[in-house]
Amino acid sequence: MSLRFFNTLTREIEEFRPVDPGHVRMYTCGPTVYDFAHIGNFRAYVFEDLLQRHLEFRGYKIERVMNLTDIDDKTIRGCRAAGVALSEFTRPYKNAFFEDLDSLRIRRADHFPEATAPNHIERMIEMIATLIERDCAYRAEDGSVYFRIGSFPKYGALAHFNLDELQSTGRVRSDEYEKEEAGDFALWKAWDEADGDVWWQSPWGRGRPGRHIECSAMATQILGPQIDIHCGGEDNIFPHHEAEIAQTESVTGVPFVRLWMHCKHLLVDGRKMSKSENNFFTLRDLMERGWTGREVRYVLLAVKYREPLNFTFESLEAARKALARYDEWSRRLEAMASANAEPVPPELNPEKFGEALDDDLNISAALGAVFELVRDSNRLVDAGRLTSGQARSLLAWRERYEWVLAFSAGEEGVPDDVRDILTRRAEARAKKEWALSDALRDQLLATGWQVKDTKEGQKLSRKG
Ligand code: AMP
Ligand code: ZN
Repeated sequence: MSLRFFNTLTREIEEFRPVDPGHVRMYTCGPTVYDFAHIGNFRAYVFEDLLQRHLEFRGYKIERVMNLTDIDDKTIRGCRAAGVALSEFTRPYKNAFFEDLDSLRIRRADHFPEATAPNHIERMIEMIATLIERDCAYRAEDGSVYFRIGSFPKYGALAHFNLDELQSTGRVRSDEYEKEEAGDFALWKAWDEADGDVWWQSPWGRGRPGRHIECSAMATQILGPQIDIHCGGEDNIFPHHEAEIAQTESVTGVPFVRLWMHCKHLLVDGRKMSKSENNFFTLRDLMERGWTGREVRYVLLAVKYREPLNFTFESLEAARKALARYDEWSRRLEAMASANAEPVPPELNPEKFGEALDDDLNISAALGAVFELVRDSNRLVDAGRLTSGQARSLLAWRERYEWVLAFSAGEEGVPDDVRDILTRRAEARAKKEWALSDALRDQLLATGWQVKDTKEGQKLSRKG
């Protein structure tokens, strides 16, 4: 069966067909680096990671861009409050973002362009100039430039609004009084005092790019005029992605994106997790409370991207349990597997996992299939009916799942003092000091960790 995804633009499930067979150009809107990203943001990035990994699982080659928005009202406000240069203000948040990506095992994009890079600013200015030439944009008296939404008849198609409705929804701001229409959006913002020393020179005077043109410029500069998949959280649909389509297509004259995919929000008590609601957790907050990156990954991944996901600590507890089962299953198979693989027993169906993901990334069904396989193969082991060759094949399947899930137990989340005891115990065992080794095992138990001795060495897990 082919891959099928829901397209926000058509509101239909469509068969996936990239422009170049086998090669996928993918653009994902990245973070605004004025603070630490919260786990709501990471729901979007984990969904995109799942999408990329599953496409790779099915043999596609992906070229992926994720931008870093390092210039907007919030970053300017932040750097002025801190009294430092813009780049100095955003650097620690950029670094923290990459650390968090690693903790959550999110595969890195091929390109992380920064909006303030000179070549991107140049491209934004070029695009704006073309839009003015074509009458799709106009310069206001203060030197700001606005996109004329009336020049683009398809404006509103992604969000499924029509232009008249748009004016009356109140979703467009009308405080910029120099605009011809309330829905027109800024391509270039003229400098004002609040911007301090953050400005670039342009044919329209000093100023800075509007938020939407950044993504259009970076996407087309790196991936070309047509891309296969563009993703983000659902709040990006309007106005951000709607604006991206209008600006880009007015410049290039060809359809910009084939498939638009958006994830539903991460909620807390039914409300969107966001900075402004002050109901957010960063990954760091959760890790300080003893949760690991892979546990948070599990929670963010386990609900299908088109379903809202309510964040709770119970869901973290459930993730911990599910991962412990998955780890235990792997250990069990490893302990009995031979070198040579044999076909898996006919009653097991390891293909179900990939088939579920082919169906619009149905991760809940895919994880259901994994845990069904865990249960059924465990039963076969208990009954002495799984051969060592079959165990080897199941481990090979597990490896393939791992490409997509990245759930394997690692050393992360193990506190330094526990790691220290573990090292001392390894030394004691190497010297055959068994009494010391046992005492250290008890010490580990007292701190909530249990250790098993296997052929590959000590294996640590949380107690219970
Ligand atoms: P921002 O830094 O606000 O531009 O957001 C970066 C990305 O995170 C965008 O793709 C947003 O749509 C997404 N996002 C923000 N909040 C949430 C949330 N609560 N749940 C899911 N995605 C979110
Ligand atoms: Zn964007």
